[in-house]
Amino acid sequence: MSDVRDVIVIGGGPAGYTAALYAARANLRPLVIEGFNWGGQLMITSEVENYPGYRDGVLGPEMMAEFRAQAERFGTEFLTDDVTRVDFSERPFKVYVGGDEYLAQTVIVATGATARQLGLESERALHGRGVTYCATCDGAFYRDREVVVVGGGDSAMEEALFLTKFASKVTIVHRRDEFRASQIMLDRARAHEKVEILTPYVVEEVLGAETGKLTGLRLRNVESGEPLDYPADGLFVAIGHDPTTGLFLDALDHDENGYLVTRGKTTETNVPGVFAAGDVQDHVYRQAITAAGSGCAAALDAERFLADLEGHPATALTAARDH
Ligand code: NAP
Repeated sequence: MSDVRDVIVIGGGPAGYTAALYAARANLRPLVIEGFNWGGQLMITSEVENYPGYRDGVLGPEMMAEFRAQAERFGTEFLTDDVTRVDFSERPFKVYVGGDEYLAQTVIVATGATARQLGLESERALHGRGVTYCATCDGAFYRDREVVVVGGGDSAMEEALFLTKFASKVTIVHRRDEFRASQIMLDRARAHEKVEILTPYVVEEVLGAETGKLTGLRLRNVESGEPLDYPADGLFVAIGHDPTTGLFLDALDHDENGYLVTRGKTTETNVPGVFAAGDVQDHVYRQAITAAGSGCAAALDAERFLADLEGHPATALTAARDH
């Protein structure tokens, strides 16, 4: 059974690398199957200014390379490929990458989530140059600017209200006259002097691709079909997130939106020995720092599980958790 690992981490973002760091330092020799496009959502953000310890800010990809290198320093192994199938029906668990099978006593799922995109060519072209998916990350770059938030849910309202701290004007563009957002959030947005709401409009094109900088939006009225060119310095797309859980939906409990369900304050899923960390199980906070924190928790939970399995006492670290 020497080819059965203690821990396999699936996913290479803040949660996965932090889980690996803790597991490696606990001598669990983790394998991180980090995905072909490792790094997660931070690979496509602008500068990160809200991760503690980086006083002057840091580029997202640079920070993820640091996370990865720190996990590697303590003996983490990496496989830069995508998991194609899992079998959690019995231990050791089986994780497949194409035809290759990997066995482990515990698995930490940290595959994250992705922000939904509008799907426009011009949106892709100006991503990071005016088009963004995270007001918390990028709002401060739009001081005294005019921005548009697309979406009609609570995220859009929350992002719009947050952006009023910086922007001179925030326009919410939504495709219907009815909103999914809760009444209280909608009322708050409507009442704010800096917020304007434009319905029923869709974004047809992000303008400025030829200059490499967003200059405005071409909107279209859904009812009349009339186009409207709308000046803006930034576009915040807030139309929801999708957790990367397709591989796990049969095996693991999840909510109606596909987010994995964990037990209480732990990272335990419904399958003992399988843990979930980061955005894959958190649609509320969705920050690098909270994902990293839950990756740490998952490694501690896995360590405790392995210790119980072998009848060993938990390490000082996990024992301390109980006091
Ligand atoms: P959501 O509730 O699914 O809303 C997504 C919004 O984006 C909808 O208005 C939808 O329009 C619109 N949309 C989707 N695809 C679009 C497209 N291609 N083009 C234009 N518009 C599009 O997502 P969410 O706002 O991220 O919220 C997710 C969950 O988190 C919800 O349960 C929410 O209550 C919760 N949440 C709560 C808080 C809070 O309480 N503080 C904050 C944020 C999120 P349609 O309505 O026309 O489909």
